[in-house]
Amino acid sequence: MNNEILWQDKRCIVCLSEESLTVEHIIPKSIGGVLTCRFLCKACNSRFGSGFEATAKLAPELRIAALKHGSVLAELQNNLEVGATYEQSFGNIKRSVKVRKSGGLPTSSLDDNSLIVPQNEAEGILRSMLNKRGVTECDLGESIDRWKDGPINQIIELSAGIVVRKWQEHPAKPSFSESAISTLLSLKIAYEFAAIICGSAIYAKEEGLQNVRKILIEQDEEQAANIVQRYSADRAEAIHGIAFMGNKPSAQFQIRLFGHLAFVVTMPNFGIVTDETVYTLDLKNGDHFLTR
Ligand SMILES: [Zn+2]
Repeated sequence: MNNEILWQDKRCIVCLSEESLTVEHIIPKSIGGVLTCRFLCKACNSRFGSGFEATAKLAPELRIAALKHGSVLAELQNNLEVGATYEQSFGNIKRSVKVRKSGGLPTSSLDDNSLIVPQNEAEGILRSMLNKRGVTECDLGESIDRWKDGPINQIIELSAGIVVRKWQEHPAKPSFSESAISTLLSLKIAYEFAAIICGSAIYAKEEGLQNVRKILIEQDEEQAANIVQRYSADRAEAIHGIAFMGNKPSAQFQIRLFGHLAFVVTMPNFGIVTDETVYTLDLKNGDHFLTR
């Protein structure tokens, strides 16, 4: 199927304003979503993007669910780790840093004022430090050689009072201290999926829909938690999925993220006259399809 679902109406489905509409990813692009629809105004789109969607991307349970699928999802896993906090020990000193956009951990200083530098950037940084301290070209080359040939885990003295240490054991571990996944994310996905199923009827002023829109606009985590329930699945495929499960008696949706995380969203006082509808995105090959 096409990545973009066509939308005829000119109004934002959340705040109902007639501001120019923008392309919205139903499942956030940051977690691998590809299905889009032009039905959110710029303000709503960017508020969600910098709000609960941004924190959801770093949610530990989401990253763990992605990791369960092993290297087949390596690229997506790496993207999810950008901005995540990792802890690393150097002897008795610990550091806590965030994964860079370009991957890997950054340069940072420890409490003892020493600088921790990624191995592949160490030479360039050393050269510029020695340069700044007025070390001659000849001494500089010698210093670099002394560092390169020097023993691991020991203090090596270079020129101009600079001392270095080539750390050998310094495993980095994710802290998983980020916020848990927001229930607003599942509610947003369910509401947008409802719009795709029922078209312009999503603009109706029914109490149930008004309530969902209010929760989304206010990003009211507490109210969202009242209508979103969370489950987890042990054995699961590498998919994202959204399903309309029917009216029980209110419209019920199930959201699956990385197969393992499952959320059931029940929208009070709202029903859709249609059969069960299921959207599946295969994260291994990017194929996606809608079945009724
Ligand atoms: Zn809006």
